[in-house]
Amino acid sequence: MPGFVNLIGYPLKHSLSPYFQQEALDYYHLDVCYQAWEVRAEELETAISRLREPQHLGANVTVPYKEAVMPLLDGVDDLAALVGAVNTIVKRDGDLWGYNTDVGGFVEALKARGNFDVGGKRAIVLGAGGSARAVSFALAREKISSLLIANRTPERARVLVKGLRHYAAQTGLEAEITVLLWQALASERTFADCQLVVNCTPVGMKYSSSEGQSPLAGNVIPEGILVYDLVYNPSPSPLLQLSRKAGANILGGLPMLVYQGAASFKLWMGREAPVGLMHDKARQALIEGNK
Ligand code: NAP
Repeated sequence: MPGFVNLIGYPLKHSLSPYFQQEALDYYHLDVCYQAWEVRAEELETAISRLREPQHLGANVTVPYKEAVMPLLDGVDDLAALVGAVNTIVKRDGDLWGYNTDVGGFVEALKARGNFDVGGKRAIVLGAGGSARAVSFALAREKISSLLIANRTPERARVLVKGLRHYAAQTGLEAEITVLLWQALASERTFADCQLVVNCTPVGMKYSSSEGQSPLAGNVIPEGILVYDLVYNPSPSPLLQLSRKAGANILGGLPMLVYQGAASFKLWMGREAPVGLMHDKARQALIEGNK
């Protein structure tokens, strides 16, 4: 019987992970199938129980379950515990362990593709869900000097800011870490001193209710900053189209998607992921899906 690695989330129609993960599994001729499971919130517990069946080797977890899945696992590693979000589940001796490869994937893409050095910079993060948590802790670990978090639901941003300040106090990071009201995103002044904006909301994502929309208006985006959108489908996203017009540098979510996926692959299979091949397959799937 083949083994399975699953992708758990809702909705999943936009996802490219099944394409490039299967490519990596096939590259090594592994008898493993990467299978998407669209799971509604009330089915999440059952889906995690199914992972305990012997043919399942692990999973990726995506929108909106990266936080909700944590109490259903047998344990999480230190990074996932710090971030408070899991995007990778690995079965070890029958137990389900949670990891976070978004942190490393985000930073790798920022450095390699965004050519951006975080130390001493000022950033604004949009969102406070699972990926915003990974991105914010990644920026704090890379010694950002100012981090403003804006979320549609401010309470969730407050919780994230509290956790980040605790981390900063423990590690001696001297950074301004503050909640930014969502309404403040409509003002040019908000962005005057920042060098990096990261969109960690699904706004603009294909097949979502906000398809075609941008979380920011073009007139607030300063020239020369880096706008990094975790949304990878469509490419460029509506936010990145506006940012490019405004004279900003842009980075889409595809490189991060592949880097985090490559790290997940290594955790499941214990082998180096064929990153170049995965990237080519992801790009091809994106282009074909948009034809
Ligand atoms: P999540 O945990 O469900 O969090 C979603 C966040 O977006 C929340 O802060 C939510 O705010 C906000 N949000 C949702 N709809 C919104 C809207 N219409 N207007 C304003 N804010 C809205 O999801 P996630 O796992 O963080 O993923 C977020 C996005 O990042 C998805 O598009 C996902 O595909 C993408 N992503 C990409 C990568 C990559 O490798 N490129 C990795 C991870 C995630 P509330 O708290 O108010 O609900």
